[in-house]
Amino acid sequence: MIVDEDKLIMTKTNKKILDGKKISILGMARSGIAAAQLLQKMGANVFVSDNAREEQLGSPILNLKSFGIEYEAGRHSDRVLDADIIVISPGVSSNASIIKEAEKLDLKIVSEIEAASWFCKSPIIAVTGTNGKTTTTTLIGKMLNDAKIKHIVGGNIGNAFSGFVHELDESSIAVLEVSSFQLDFIETFHPRISIILNITPDHLDRYDNNFEKYIASKCRIFENQTKEDYLVYNFDDEQTCEQVRRFAGLHVHTLPFGIDRKFDEGAFVEGGNLVTSVGGKRNEIIEIDDIKIRGIHNLYNAIAAVLASQLMGVSSDSLEITLKTFKGVEHRLELVREINGVKFINDSKATNVESVWYALQAYKEPLIVLIGGRDKGNDYSKLFDLVKKNVKAIVAIGETAEKVYQEFSPMKKVIKALSMEEAVRKAADLAVSGDIVLLSPACASFDWFQNYEHRGQVFKEIVRVL
Ligand code: ADP
Repeated sequence: MIVDEDKLIMTKTNKKILDGKKISILGMARSGIAAAQLLQKMGANVFVSDNAREEQLGSPILNLKSFGIEYEAGRHSDRVLDADIIVISPGVSSNASIIKEAEKLDLKIVSEIEAASWFCKSPIIAVTGTNGKTTTTTLIGKMLNDAKIKHIVGGNIGNAFSGFVHELDESSIAVLEVSSFQLDFIETFHPRISIILNITPDHLDRYDNNFEKYIASKCRIFENQTKEDYLVYNFDDEQTCEQVRRFAGLHVHTLPFGIDRKFDEGAFVEGGNLVTSVGGKRNEIIEIDDIKIRGIHNLYNAIAAVLASQLMGVSSDSLEITLKTFKGVEHRLELVREINGVKFINDSKATNVESVWYALQAYKEPLIVLIGGRDKGNDYSKLFDLVKKNVKAIVAIGETAEKVYQEFSPMKKVIKALSMEEAVRKAADLAVSGDIVLLSPACASFDWFQNYEHRGQVFKEIVRVL
């Protein structure tokens, strides 16, 4: 590997090197504020800039003031460009004009996880993919927790990496959910274990509508890894597999996982068991029917988490216990309550058709599904086969209720509802013991709710008082 002098210096960056460096941080949300505090502590002169107005920003401003950090709100002025390094928050688009100007000036631009990683003493497990990141990252956290291994979970979920990196030492592990936006601006970010769950078209508006660029961004997760490190990747996902075959095989230890085939090195399902084979050692971890989180997508997430945790020293017995008890993450196929044999499941995070597809194949019981919200040009035909097979009725909700009605009524009973409360009550009236009422909307939530979490909370509150 060619050693880039600049990268080498940044890898060893410490307080002395940052002393007196001018660093501009773009974005004043969670990760921008955490980076500002960290980099100031490490000796830099920090300036934070956000184009939202001061009144909209609220508490972050107070935070910066209390630390004596300079900032501007409502614009990105030229002051941002008077810097040795620019740190970009994931919420700020790489197409923003201030970034284009910084690039013209050849300024060093890094993401918040890159900056935090300069100060990280512990090994990093980094999880990326289009779908499943939060579930897999959280599950790895639980596996390490149950095995009493010191670790902190964060990144794209929970706390920003910059906010806790100083708490990590050589004997602990950083478990990070990493988005492609964070990977767009890395230089030396170097996970001990990286995971790619899957790559499908998403967020393409931030990649000039170019899928290749999005794929390339995800694959940067392993660019600084060496033969000492591991890349855990989904062999059944065509895009992931092709990219790994092209770029990773030579410089990093690759560990594939899949469901239908066996690997000498990797993880797979055999005879109904989740099996790993690493360094010539084979381990049967659990019968897959005993894994508490449901659905084929969650089986992939579970296998990936098992491989990563095992590499960090978690025993098979401990992994089995975690897989039998991990309930999943809120708003993702979350069991809310069972009433008279009817289960109510909150899958509000299912904001697209693909997620609903996974939800519909996760259950054997007859389903009454709440579908609708703000439609993003959905093609519902991908669901037709599963709806015919597994669904008893659909309750159409939100702005797109009429479209949902038109699409599904030729094959199933569809009823419309004008509020979440009406939808839940109508679904409950239709259900008999053994059925499942599933909120899996396939749509954004912004027609009736602030976000998908709010939609899920409202659903749960209604179910709780039924
Ligand atoms: P992310 O953090 O990447 O958005 P989550 O774990 O929050 O992922 O899951 C979001 C949704 O993505 C889930 O509700 C589910 O429908 C779908 N999903 C989860 N894991 C996978 C997977 N491995 N493959 C495909 N879809 C998945």
